[in-house]
Amino acid sequence: MTDGQVCLVLATANAHKVKEFERLLPGVTVEPIGSTVVLPPETGDTYAENALGKARAAALATGNTAIADDSGIEVESLGGSPGIRSARFAGENATDEENLTLLEELVPPGEKLEYVCCIALVDPITGVEEIFEARCAGTMSGTRSGNRGFGYDPAFVPDELGSSLTMADLTDEQKDLISHRGKAARMLTAFLP
Ligand code: IMP
Repeated sequence: MTDGQVCLVLATANAHKVKEFERLLPGVTVEPIGSTVVLPPETGDTYAENALGKARAAALATGNTAIADDSGIEVESLGGSPGIRSARFAGENATDEENLTLLEELVPPGEKLEYVCCIALVDPITGVEEIFEARCAGTMSGTRSGNRGFGYDPAFVPDELGSSLTMADLTDEQKDLISHRGKAARMLTAFLP
C-alpha cells in the first residue's frame, strides 16, 4: 500500500484480464506481473489450487501482495465439464472459437450452464492467503448472439437477466454486475483495507 492506495500484483500474462481487473477493482492499483516471472502451469484439481499457485509465485517473486484468478464454464449435462479445463476444452492450444464450437456441438439449447471464477490473494509479508469464489448461472443459447465479451459468452444466456440476451450482448458494466468475475472481485474488494 502507498498513500492509502492498495496495490496488487496481478499474476497473469493475459492483457484482457489486466484490463478487466482494472475495471473491476476501482481504487486499486493493479500491477501486471510482467513476462520475466514464470507462472506455474494450471495443473491443480480445483480453480482455487490453480489460482493460488499463480498468486503464490507472483507474491514470492515480487515481495508484494498478489492476486490471480482461474475460471471456467461448467455444463450440468456434462457432469460439470469442462470446468477447470475450459481453456483447453477443444485441445491443448485451442482457440476461443474452437472451444465455443465444441460446446455448441455437445450441448443442446436450454441446457444448464454455470460460469465460475476463483480469485486468490497472497500476502508474502503476513502469510495471509484468501480465496474468493463466485458463480453465475445460465442456459445454453439456441444461436450465438453478440460481439462483446470473450470465450463462451455468445452462447451463454445468464439467468439473472430473465431475458434471452447472451453475455456477449451486454456492455462491460452490465456483465460486471452479474458475472462470476464481477461477484468474486466485489468479494475481494470487501476484504481489502
Ligand atoms: P482461465 O481462467 O484463463 O484459465 O480461462 C478459463 C476459460 O473459461 C477460458 O476458455 C475462457 O474463455 C472461459 N471463461 C472464463 N470466464 C469467462 C467469461 O466471463 N466469458 C467467457 N468465457 C469465460
